[in-house]
Amino acid sequence: MEKAYDPEDFRERGHRLVDELADHLADKLSGESGKAIHWNEPEEELQFWQKFLANGDKNALFPEITKRITHIHHPHYIGHQVSPTAPITSLTAMISGLLNNGMAVYEMGMAPSAMERVVTDLLCKKIGYGDLSGGFLTSGGTLANLTALLTARRMNVDSDIWNGGMHHQLGIMVSEEAHYCIDRAAKIMGLGEDGIIKVPATQDYRMDTGLLEKKYREATAKGVHIFAIVGSAPSTATGMFDDLGAISAFAENKQLWFHVDGAHGGAAIFSDKYKGLLSGIEKADSVAIDGHKMLMMPTITTALLYKKSSHTNATFSQKAEYLLTESELEDWCNSGKKTFECTKTMMSIHWYTLLKMYGEEVFNNFVTHLFDKGTEFAEIISTHPNFELAVNPMCNIVCFRYVDKDLNQEQLNQLNAGLRKQLLEEGEFYIVQTKLKSVHYLRVTVMNPFTTRTHFQRLLAKMLTWAERTGPWALL
Ligand SMILES: *Cc1c(COP(=O)(O)O)cnc(C)c1O
Repeated sequence: MEKAYDPEDFRERGHRLVDELADHLADKLSGESGKAIHWNEPEEELQFWQKFLANGDKNALFPEITKRITHIHHPHYIGHQVSPTAPITSLTAMISGLLNNGMAVYEMGMAPSAMERVVTDLLCKKIGYGDLSGGFLTSGGTLANLTALLTARRMNVDSDIWNGGMHHQLGIMVSEEAHYCIDRAAKIMGLGEDGIIKVPATQDYRMDTGLLEKKYREATAKGVHIFAIVGSAPSTATGMFDDLGAISAFAENKQLWFHVDGAHGGAAIFSDKYKGLLSGIEKADSVAIDGHKMLMMPTITTALLYKKSSHTNATFSQKAEYLLTESELEDWCNSGKKTFECTKTMMSIHWYTLLKMYGEEVFNNFVTHLFDKGTEFAEIISTHPNFELAVNPMCNIVCFRYVDKDLNQEQLNQLNAGLRKQLLEEGEFYIVQTKLKSVHYLRVTVMNPFTTRTHFQRLLAKMLTWAERTGPWALL
């Protein structure tokens, strides 16, 4: 036990680890080692770690972990929407790890609780909220969306469901293209299938706001009491932003709670060039923004911001006395009353540190640059006869596929799935895939500011070679 707490052992391992991680970072950022992922089959990986626990060399532990992962900092990593962390936030993660204040109450996280207030106040201002706004940080977009919908139900449904249970059918409205966690939140809340009013998407995968009135009427005619509507900024699969202005006007008209799922693109509040995509966000009752997606931070930290900060106290209050005044103000620092979590990490220090060290401008640069890169990649795709975009991208998420006029839809689906499988197993690039209206697309999210046009071209050249030289069927 004493060894486990030995400060000198920590110092020595820590220095060595920082050196190793800095080397790793330099290598990955430059793309020198060539691979974005060293793919192993799950069973193979499991066996390795089972054996390692028994026989592995202790000093090889950290290097092995570092090697056997997906390399988010590699410029060929253009897969899921996870940030290549700004290295300094791995240091703040270490601070949080060692100091380990539990945050639920002010006494267990004085500095990070105050920092959380500073950061969430700043985010509210960037959204365009007024003085009554406020928010908190929580563990992920999924949890933030669920929390916001719970607040919505508390504020917008007359009966006290929290204490009395649910006695009639409640519902929310959301685009069919929204992230699956909205469905999950609704199901957790007991709304069931009937309580999830799916608004169809347009050809370009945005919520068809022209159908809102019709969908609302159909559901209310069946006795569903709709209390909230969710806008996606953007939706995950295609990266298309819903028209937040139109949704907010509808929400206001029907007196619905308007929540914006800005897990990915809410970060555009910092982008001078792209903040227009979020026009109308300032009218939302609540907004979720992930720090670990477009804001350079480690998993997992999400800001949930409210137009009225008093609502943050309503969600989980046991009694109906939540619209407190003075005590509510006193209570800004006890975040556990507002969050799903009791204990959470000291996540505010990532946000605060980035703002302190590099200023808001770093977020403006990061978001703007990556959204620009999405357009650049799409331009390359659209000029090539053998590739096709699913839709012109609005941000750094791009869905595309290989096409060949001699193949039918099913063959193309198989071919594109085969291309993605071969990419994964070979590992030089990491991209993902998605199905849109039964069509198999390859999906890229440009997350690394050091990914260049040359990298895009190399990816496409590689896929062309495989598809053409080996013949499509050889890939399957
Ligand atoms: C990623 C994402 C989520 C889920 O957020 P987590 O932080 O992974 O829980 C929710 N909504 C959208 C639109 C997303 O892109």
